[in-house]
Amino acid sequence: MKFNTSPRINAAAFTLIASAFLVLVYNTTFWRTFIDATGQLSLAHLPLHVGSFILIVLLFNGFLTLINFRYVLKPVLIVLFMATAATSYFMNQYGTQIDRAMIQNLVETDVREARELLNLKLILTVGLLGVLPSLAVWRVKITYPAWRRDLGIKFGIIAVSALVIAALLFAFFKTLAPTLREHRELRFLLTPTNYIQAVHSYVRQKESEAVVVAPLGTDAVRSLAKAGNRHRSVTVIVVGETARAMNFSLNGYARATNPELARQPGLINFSNVQSCGTATAVSLPCVFSALGRENYTDNKARAQQGLLDVLAHAGFDVLWRDNNSGCKGTCDRVRYEDMSQPVAGDRFCVGDECYDERLLERLPEIIHNAPGDLVVVLHQKGSHGPAYWKRYPAAFKRFGPVCETNELEKCSREAIVAAYDNTIVYTDHFLNQTIELLKKSAASDDINTAMLYFSDHGESLGENNMYLHGAPYIISPVEQRSVPMMLWLSDGFASRFHIDRRCLAARAGQAFSHDNVFHSVLGMLSVSTAVYNPRLDILSPCTKDE
Ligand SMILES: [Zn+2]
Repeated sequence: MKFNTSPRINAAAFTLIASAFLVLVYNTTFWRTFIDATGQLSLAHLPLHVGSFILIVLLFNGFLTLINFRYVLKPVLIVLFMATAATSYFMNQYGTQIDRAMIQNLVETDVREARELLNLKLILTVGLLGVLPSLAVWRVKITYPAWRRDLGIKFGIIAVSALVIAALLFAFFKTLAPTLREHRELRFLLTPTNYIQAVHSYVRQKESEAVVVAPLGTDAVRSLAKAGNRHRSVTVIVVGETARAMNFSLNGYARATNPELARQPGLINFSNVQSCGTATAVSLPCVFSALGRENYTDNKARAQQGLLDVLAHAGFDVLWRDNNSGCKGTCDRVRYEDMSQPVAGDRFCVGDECYDERLLERLPEIIHNAPGDLVVVLHQKGSHGPAYWKRYPAAFKRFGPVCETNELEKCSREAIVAAYDNTIVYTDHFLNQTIELLKKSAASDDINTAMLYFSDHGESLGENNMYLHGAPYIISPVEQRSVPMMLWLSDGFASRFHIDRRCLAARAGQAFSHDNVFHSVLGMLSVSTAVYNPRLDILSPCTKDE
């Protein structure tokens, strides 16, 4: 039989239909989970569900529009339909999420195991949802306008889609942001993006396993230590979590969120500090690297040693204590203590998490027993959201009423901010406890102590209807980028390293960023190495050379 006429359709309409088809037909598991996560199917939730559907269709359509060219679109769609059909079968049949580990299983499975997975139902699914749509794609005749007009149309589609997506995000952000954060599985259920992302992540992992970490600052030495100082130094670096500068009363916030630190004499508060990223996974590797924000990439940071390595080269004993989700590669070659897993009977642990004060447990003994100069990094859980109310003990519930659900849309903005402010009050207490502990150690062990604190990134708390963090840096709101930073030096530390604290206090209002941390830590500890840049060292103008 011979077909004389194939069905004809114009290119733009075709990708839109294909996108809607992908979002509807292969994503039953995703939609079931999404609807459960956002509340039941009801008239009240209809705008959210329809809005999310349109948002994802436009997103998919945007990508398909970019590759919507003759001889390109059809093969890509056929591969997508076949692979997505198989993926949706596995998700429906086994309830599996498609992530990197899943792809690893698949790649590393032998033929015998693979054959066991083949069955009639899979063949039927792929036939019905893969082969049939592919045949339709193959048969259809797509009409493209002249190239100039075609590019104009494509540009128009992408621009309008971006606007509609932005509007939908704005309208539903308060629900979508915490839902996606609390239900991370959604990301692994939406297909075809799940397996595309998983394959990409698997390939990257294979590549990074092959990366050789280049040494950094192997020439580092402690210059003043050489001059025969008999006191040991102990420096605590506190890495905060999701603390934003503007909610610290030390930075002028109207609520008294820093009752303890405000009374801490000699504390230097840097009031104008920008973070390197808007998420832990960017800020943390960046701030401990020598790269700086402009030069930072994930790959570069992984391929090069960082601040903690340079300190180790200089002879410091380095320890990382974590109450968060790990150090993101920054502490790979130093001692690491995971303190985030609750231990029965620990007074700082409640339910499945522990308050930050746990990071100070046994610290006096560690300081006392350290053989030489010591640097301890304390990685807080801090103000991690959306469950702010879980981050502090009851005694720190200073403001209220507080939002006590992850579903932010059920809370007023005031209740969300109140819970967040309580996390800052607790961080205030935690930092003050750290300083008091260092004061005691300085006195009892006759050592020189210092504390540097900075947060990894900020947080949106309803400004322009945005919540949480992780916005792309160039368009990120200032709330997500402005972080607190503080420095406390014991008298012994300041005199040993010739640091003029009054001079520093006078500089505390200047604009600084995470880029300054690497060089300031080396500077304050008088580490000389070729990788140290005095221009980025905040303390440099206030340190007297001998
Ligand atoms: Zn973070």
